[in-house]
Amino acid sequence: MDVPAIVELKDIWVNYGEVPALENVSLSVFEHDFLGIIGPNGGGKSTLLKVILGLIKPEYGSVSVFRQSPEQARSHVGYVSQRYLFDRDFPASVWDVVLMGRYSRAGILRRYDDRDRAETAKALAGVGMLEHRGKQIGRLSGGEQQRVFVARALVAEPRLLLLDEPTASIDSTMQTEFYDLLEGLKDSLTIVMVSHDIGAVSVHVDKIACLNRQMYYHGSKEITPEILEATYQCPVQLIAHGTVPHRVLREH
Ligand code: ADP
Ligand code: MG
Repeated sequence: MDVPAIVELKDIWVNYGEVPALENVSLSVFEHDFLGIIGPNGGGKSTLLKVILGLIKPEYGSVSVFRQSPEQARSHVGYVSQRYLFDRDFPASVWDVVLMGRYSRAGILRRYDDRDRAETAKALAGVGMLEHRGKQIGRLSGGEQQRVFVARALVAEPRLLLLDEPTASIDSTMQTEFYDLLEGLKDSLTIVMVSHDIGAVSVHVDKIACLNRQMYYHGSKEITPEILEATYQCPVQLIAHGTVPHRVLREH
């Protein structure tokens, strides 16, 4: 029996004025996938996540998320946007930043209750940041802030987690820790992660989509150099890295 996809994009077209961002893009995401969407800067990756969130309406094509419209499904979707880190003096604590993630559940007329606080503590513990809860968010390192943003997304109890370039502003040691964190989450969640860093992504995810305005590939991790070259429009090479094939962009 066919398992229904939880995200189904069919033949999506998005333009920003004269600038085409997505052309004829289709994508299926299944429960418990850990999908990496890779492609060059400007390739439409962030746009694609916004289509899944219902923040951008495609000019053409159909979008279904949990077999509903993206707007109806949004309360089941956690999102960590591509962002710059907080300013050092940003006046909010780690605890407040995560608790605010309960906002959509609490609604504007309800105060946070014990359940909200319990979920906040659980999410912070889950990303290893509970002991930092009293700190000002901007005083944390990049990797620590990313963990807090993931906790903020998790606290709303999503069934699907969308991460836009989550490791862009953290160093390589922190990146390894961050991927270990995602490893621990992927049994209970479906994860779609966008990145322009093919090397790191291909080691950790289960499935890959290559996006550069069009979808060049979508499937298991066994992508060929030819597909990557078509996506990035420049030479790409595969290098052995331990037992896992590791794919990197060749200097060009
Ligand atoms: P990626 O996340 O892969 O870097 P984006 O989805 O951010 O790509 O952008 C895809 C294309 O759409 C780029 O050419 C970008 O300049 C353009 N674009 C993105 N957002 C906007 C916007 N709000 N207005 C105009 N053009 C945009
Ligand atoms: Mg982007």
